[in-house]
Formats: sequence, C-alpha cells, structure tokens
Amino acid sequence: MKFPLENESDNESFPVDGSCAFCKGQNPEGFIVFSFSAMERLGNTNSFAPADVKKSVYLIDHGVVENGGVQISEGITDFIFCSTKCLRLFFNSVVDEFEQAGSTST
Ligand SMILES: [Zn+2]
Repeated sequence: MKFPLENESDNESFPVDGSCAFCKGQNPEGFIVFSFSAMERLGNTNSFAPADVKKSVYLIDHGVVENGGVQISEGITDFIFCSTKCLRLFFNSVVDEFEQAGSTST
C-alpha cells in the first residue's frame, strides 16, 4: 500500500468503486467504513454543516520514531473495507509505514 492515499475523483470515498481499500474485494453482505469528517459551526449557533476544507489524515511522531510520521490520505473522508480483517490489516500497514519512517524503530 502506498501512502498517502489520494482522492481519485470528486468522490471522497476510497476506493471510489466501493471495493475494499485493502484487498480490493467486495463483501456481498455489506462493508465497513472508517470515516473522517470536518464540520463547521453555522454562525453563533449549535448547528453544524460539513466544512469545505482540505481533509488530510496523518499518524504523527511525538518521540516514538525519529522522523515525522505518515500522511495516510489526502482528500478522502471515507475508507471502505470488506471486513474487520482488512480494516486491521490496513491499520497494520499504516503502523508498518510509520515504523519504517523512523530510524530508531524496533
Ligand atoms: Zn478486503
């Protein structure tokens, strides 16, 4: 898996074809969505609406590894998975990439 994952169109889901972000397969019984959102307050109210902002997801180093971190995505709000197995493998790949970014990781 190559990070950062990038938005493939105006659709903010990844992948846009509804297949699994990790194995590219499909589960006919449904799917799992890891979702990121940004909302903005509407004036001086308790109402919120989707914010028109650049959306990025990062895993950031605060002393665990020496070099920075991993930008997971750009312009993606919904990550689609066929199963919890693929969801887990996806996050394992994120952590693997994070560890490889640091020269002192173990
Ligand atoms: Zn899958």
